[in-house]
Amino acid sequence: MEYLIAGSVEEALRLMGGLDEQGRSARYVAGGTDLAVQLAGNAAGGQPEALVDVSGIPELLRLERAPGGALSIGAAVRLETLARSADLPACLSQGARAIGSPQIRALGTLGGNLCNASPCGDTLAPVIALGGRLVLASVEGRREVPAEEFFTGPKATVLRPGELLVEVDFGPAALAGRSAFRMIGQREGQAISQVNVAVWLLAEGGRMAEVRAAAGSVAPTPVRLAAAEKLLRGQAWSQGLGREAGQAAAEEVRPIDDVRAPAAYRRLLTAALLREALAEACEGVQ
Ligand SMILES: Cc1cc2nc3c(=O)[nH]c(=O)nc-3n(C[C@H](O)[C@H](O)[C@H](O)COP(=O)(O)OP(=O)(O)OC[C@H]3O[C@@H](n4cnc5c(N)ncnc54)[C@H](O)[C@@H]3O)c2cc1C
Repeated sequence: MEYLIAGSVEEALRLMGGLDEQGRSARYVAGGTDLAVQLAGNAAGGQPEALVDVSGIPELLRLERAPGGALSIGAAVRLETLARSADLPACLSQGARAIGSPQIRALGTLGGNLCNASPCGDTLAPVIALGGRLVLASVEGRREVPAEEFFTGPKATVLRPGELLVEVDFGPAALAGRSAFRMIGQREGQAISQVNVAVWLLAEGGRMAEVRAAAGSVAPTPVRLAAAEKLLRGQAWSQGLGREAGQAAAEEVRPIDDVRAPAAYRRLLTAALLREALAEACEGVQ
């Protein structure tokens, strides 16, 4: 297997395009924490003939806050960086902190977590709740896709062959609002989410003027909790409202029974985690 290291977005696209013209299969690799496991297991689709390493591309390593509060996070920014940053939206740092072990977070990237598109990935619900927009590059140019439209199924996305995720952009509201993330796995550390939930809200006059909530591991893709959001919008926080929103969320998700948890338990978790995340995000709202 050939291992090629790209120094820029343009070079990554050129390398991928060249391999495609030669009829050779290839994959991008960032931290390799998902890909290495798939290659070792000889994943469906067989072994690629080449890997194009994008982990050192300076544009993919940027983490920038614009003066107005907008935020751009490069696809190759490490999970550890997100987990340790105190000035990022809370739900994103908490989601990154929930991933694997220190070793996995030291190698794994935001882009890899998103592009791997596992329904239980721990940054997916936060990026959706924060209204993230994914910037995708190909030889034809760049396009922007809202995070909630990026995922099309388990391990499937709208990425076209050879397309590269460059960065995730967030508007100023992502940082201006309050947010929180909750997950439950089968144990404290190094555990895949049985359910994860992220909430983001903008408070005005003691009420939730805007709310977005998303959940992972409860459907083939991460999902917005639209019914719960509708109940919450315009309301002041109370434990009773949290219970109602949790109930609405439990009814709107579509989990399956699998090795990690039965569907009925996942519905209960969705309600409980949403209630807890809301309580944290609403703490001190006046
Ligand atoms: C022991 C272990 C524990 C784990 N625990 C968790 C966990 O608790 N929660 C969780 O969410 N995940 C977990 N993971 C999964 C994994 O660590 C994360 O998904 C990580 O973020 C993947 O990032 P990466 O850079 O290593 O991706 P890679 O393995 O490099 O890539 C993953 C996929 O994304 C594609 N890709 C990568 N970057 C780009 C890009 N810029 N543009 C287009 N395609 C791209 C690759 O081609 C590949 O298909 C775990 C993995 C292991 C091995």
